[in-house]
Parts: sequence; C-alpha cells; structure tokens
Amino acid sequence: MNLTRFEQTLQEMNRIGALDKGVTRLAYTREEQQAREYFVFLCKRAGLQVRIDPCGNVIARREGRNPQLPAVACGSHLDTVIQGGRFDGTLGVLAALEVVERLNEKGIETEHPIEIISFACEESARFGVSTIGSKAMAGLLKKEQIADLKDKHGISIETAMSECSFDFERVEQAKRKKEELCVFFELHIEQGPILEQEQVHIGIVSGIAAPTRLHVHVQGKASHSGTTPMDLRQDALLGAAEIALQLELAAKAEQDQGTVATIGVCEVKPGAMNVIPDLVELKIDIRGSSVSSKAEVLRKLMHAFETVRYERGLEIEWHLLSDEQPVLLKQEIASSIEHSCKKLGISYRHMSSGAGHDAMNMARVWPTGLIFVPSADGLSHHPDEFTAMADIAAGIAVLEEEVMKWAGASESAASLQEITAKGWI
Ligand SMILES: [Zn+2]
Repeated sequence: MNLTRFEQTLQEMNRIGALDKGVTRLAYTREEQQAREYFVFLCKRAGLQVRIDPCGNVIARREGRNPQLPAVACGSHLDTVIQGGRFDGTLGVLAALEVVERLNEKGIETEHPIEIISFACEESARFGVSTIGSKAMAGLLKKEQIADLKDKHGISIETAMSECSFDFERVEQAKRKKEELCVFFELHIEQGPILEQEQVHIGIVSGIAAPTRLHVHVQGKASHSGTTPMDLRQDALLGAAEIALQLELAAKAEQDQGTVATIGVCEVKPGAMNVIPDLVELKIDIRGSSVSSKAEVLRKLMHAFETVRYERGLEIEWHLLSDEQPVLLKQEIASSIEHSCKKLGISYRHMSSGAGHDAMNMARVWPTGLIFVPSADGLSHHPDEFTAMADIAAGIAVLEEEVMKWAGASESAASLQEITAKGWI
C-alpha cells in the first residue's frame, strides 16, 4: 500500500503548531484554525463540498449516487493537548481523507454520500471540557453548560470561538438530525499498550469507559510525631494508604472486565514532618465500560471506608464528583469491522477504550465503530507519540473497506468522464 501521500499530508499538518517539543494546537486557537483551513483546502482539492458548522466542526461531503440517502461519516479531531503527539486525532481525520482520495483515484462511486468530519475542541486541555464539537453535533451540548468556561489566561470559550469566527450563541445549531447519517467510524491510536504488546494491528472497540469520580476526606487527629505512641495515633495518611491498597485489590479483581482505578490526587495535611497527618484529601477515578464491574469496585471501596473507620477510628467523608455512563458500541458494527479484518488478513482483537473519544458522543445517536491502531509504548498526549506506518496502513485499509461497504460502493468504477465531471480528480 502506498502511503506517500498520507505521510506527506500528515507531516504538513503537523507543521502547524509544531514548536520545539511536540505539536500544540489547542482548541479555538490560531493553530487549530490554521489546521482547519489546511484541511478545508485538502478537502476542496479532493472535490468535496465543505461546510463548517457554528461550533467549528468541518464537514466535507462526497456526494453519493443517491444524495437523499443518509451519509456514511468518518473522522476525528485536529486539536491537540499542549506538546501533544502527531497522531492523536489527526490520524483519524487524514485517514478518512485518504480513503476518499483512493475512491476518487479508482473512480469508485457510492450509493450513500460520504462525509469526513473534523470535530472541534476534542481535547479538554484548554477549557477543561472534552469533545465539545461531537457533543454539539449529537445534540448533547447545552450552551449554558459551557458558557462559563475559561482558559488559564481567563479567555472565555465565547471569545475564543468568536476569534475563530464561530458564533457561540449558535453552537446548539451544530446538532444534526438522526436521519442525516447512517453510521460513523473513527480511526484512532490506542493511547495504551495492549495492541503493541500483543502484536496485533487493529483493536475493535466494544465499549468506551466512563469515569466515576469521588472526592474523599480522611479525617484523623494531628499530634506530635515524637511524643505520640504508635498505638495512640489517628494517622489519616495510614488510613488513606489502606484505602488505596484496597482499591487496587478491588480493581485487580475486575481486570478481565477492563475496569481500572486510580488515586491521582493525595494531599496530606498539615504537611509537616513532625506532625501526624490529621487530614488527607483523595481524588479517586474508577473507569470501566461495564456498569456492574464499576459498581463492584465502588462497593469494595465503601467497604474499605468502613474498615478504616472502624479499625483506625478515622472519619471518612466522601462525595461523588461524577458518575458517567459507559458507552457500548453497536455489536453489528464491531462484527462488520471484524469481518473486514478477516477479509484483509489483518490481525485484530476486541477491546474497550479507557479514554473518551468523539465516537462516544456520536454513538449516542448513530451506529458507531471505533478502530484502534497500536501506540508505541502506549504513549500518547506526548511528543514521542508514535504509530508505525505499517499499522496506519492496516487501519486505513480497514476504514476504506468499511466505508465502501456501508456506503454501497458500485461494482463498476465510474468512467473517467464522470470522474472529471464530478471534479474528483
Ligand atoms: Zn484523540
């Protein structure tokens, strides 16, 4: 498979926002806007009709034989985190374009229209909220929910959007009708180590994990670290440590379900070497794509709270920060992707996604497929993020197969005259 064109476009795209380390194209900045403009240029050159919705999502359409039919859509995002990688998001957008370019070259027409979507503001790096563009398209975004968002310089999302000439007042109008699309595909890097470790080319995602987050206060009693005997202490840190280890055990027991748990924040107060800690604040993140498995980890965590309360005389207060529902992707689409992998002789495995993607919002409305390719060392959101071209080639081949299948590619290629008339080349 010849990937020269794809490699060149990827390189060109990643010149935008390239600093000394990695790529920085934060949402609704000049860099993201430049990426959008370059993508629009590429799409127009490929003969696509391009429009940009009020939220900044780019929608590029290749007409079908029957324009009344719902479109087969595929895409991802072009924004990045600060000093991000070259593949997260960008791969999925440019791979979709490569698929269309190949259809153009081969003069293949499809019954359904094909759309490439580049979603705006997928990363939460600037405003703390992720997948804004796809939420808006799926009708899951309420303007009021994001109206107060500001970046670290105090710039509101409204101002940032208007600087890119998008109208914040109209973001909800990015919502599309169910009948406009029939299926959505996203090709994305795994951002984890499983595919590389197992030397498998393609991950077929069955579900996207959602976090359940808790804020926990472990309250003990501060006293002198030198004069208080060990058996008379109410050390909040030791209680927190026990909770952490119990949480690890609980998540490990659910390993086959793909559930994971992390305490990413632990603040010890008063934080002096000669004082026994009286307060520990924990922030706990439990993720999984199985609701019952997550609930089981949560049940064991509550049990750990009780044990620590009883055995150590500590007070534990907690509240839920968020409890989101995992997204299950349609089995029918996963089977279709599996079928394509078999047909093309490409190795695959089914898996769940620990990270959120635009696909999870699209899946609330449209049948959706999420296709993973390996990430070297599992690295992502990092300048060293890397996916080998052989893996990308496999990903594009599977995506192409799916698009042709769902869009109803014609057996006989269109004539050169037709192709030229349609402006495809
Ligand atoms: Zn991404």
